[in-house]
Amino acid sequence: MHLDDRVARVFGDDEPTHLGSGWMSGTISVFLGVLAVGAVVCFYVPELLTSPDVRAVLPMPIVRTTIQLVIGAGFLLGFLSLLLRRRKTLGIAGVVLAMAAALAGGGNIPYEGAVPKTPVYLGLDWFLLNLLLLAIVFVPLEKLWPHKRGQSVFRRGWATDTIYFFVSHLLVQVSTLLTLMPAQVFFDWAIHPALQSAVRAQPAVLQFLQCMLVADLAEYTIHRFFHKSKWLWPFHAVHHSSTEMDWLAGSRLHIVDIVLTRGLTFVPLFVLGFDTGPLYAYLVFVSVHAVFIHSNVSWRFPRWVESVIVTPRFHHWHHAIEHEAIDKNFAVHFPFLDKLFGTYYGPAGAWPAGYGIHESDVPDGFASQLVYPIRPRRRSPDVS
Ligand SMILES: [Zn+2]
Ligand SMILES: [Zn+2]
Repeated sequence: MHLDDRVARVFGDDEPTHLGSGWMSGTISVFLGVLAVGAVVCFYVPELLTSPDVRAVLPMPIVRTTIQLVIGAGFLLGFLSLLLRRRKTLGIAGVVLAMAAALAGGGNIPYEGAVPKTPVYLGLDWFLLNLLLLAIVFVPLEKLWPHKRGQSVFRRGWATDTIYFFVSHLLVQVSTLLTLMPAQVFFDWAIHPALQSAVRAQPAVLQFLQCMLVADLAEYTIHRFFHKSKWLWPFHAVHHSSTEMDWLAGSRLHIVDIVLTRGLTFVPLFVLGFDTGPLYAYLVFVSVHAVFIHSNVSWRFPRWVESVIVTPRFHHWHHAIEHEAIDKNFAVHFPFLDKLFGTYYGPAGAWPAGYGIHESDVPDGFASQLVYPIRPRRRSPDVS
């Protein structure tokens, strides 16, 4: 049975999900409960479950207060759901998770001294932080301005995409290492100190825009290769297998897709030697922008904005099921790259009718999709 169906069997029922039915309070309560328990676990084994880079910048008093607020809100919403809803699974789960987090110490768990450094760690804190921030921003946006009306947060494949989101954040150490390594190992020779000094002497805004441009040029090239090569396509087909788009759908990326795309995109950024300020600002921007362009948000932008920067409508066409949109809109920041290289598609104001791959043989589920590109196949994949 598919993971979505299994979760639905535990928590779902045929009661209404409208406001006042205890559905929203229940699901938010479970969400907050999971976040709270995760945060508490991080406090118990910080050396193994948290990232030193995240630890270095997180203001702990704010984190501790946030954990207490999350526990309190989780408990209250769980209790509200228990009152409103006939089936009590969601409410009980939310209350139990919040109570477990509180009894384990909540945001007040002390730890003495500096966290010892370990050679290997997981980014559970990185996962929880991003999940909280992105969900707070994008779930309301998709509810207030949905492109596909009536599409649930729990649309088909949501559980699979949550696992992608979880694994990619948990393995932050590995993915950072693999992103930096190709550039550092193979392109050290390409560094010219004079060029790097000239790049760094520019205003930060200019460097930020240049980061966007060179990264997008690299991304465009690799992305097009992923679509054109019959060896690479199955890895990227996993990303295109989503049949519904939302903020979480962009997380569905095969590990080979992530490593090759990020590793090669980082090469020009490394060689040009941008200042850390503009570079980090770009990394933050790209991570939020990538989520935004997949989101189920119907915002209409003026034509000039759509031709300057990639919007959800532009990237939704990249995922479109329509034949005329196949192998179009490869850019992730600047649509002019597709216009320049003859791969632009975007009929004025229109959105795709659906998303996915024609005659897709990409299976459902994280594990099946992990092995899908390397498993023997009887027929050649339909490149879309
Ligand atoms: Zn693609
Ligand atoms: Zn995409």
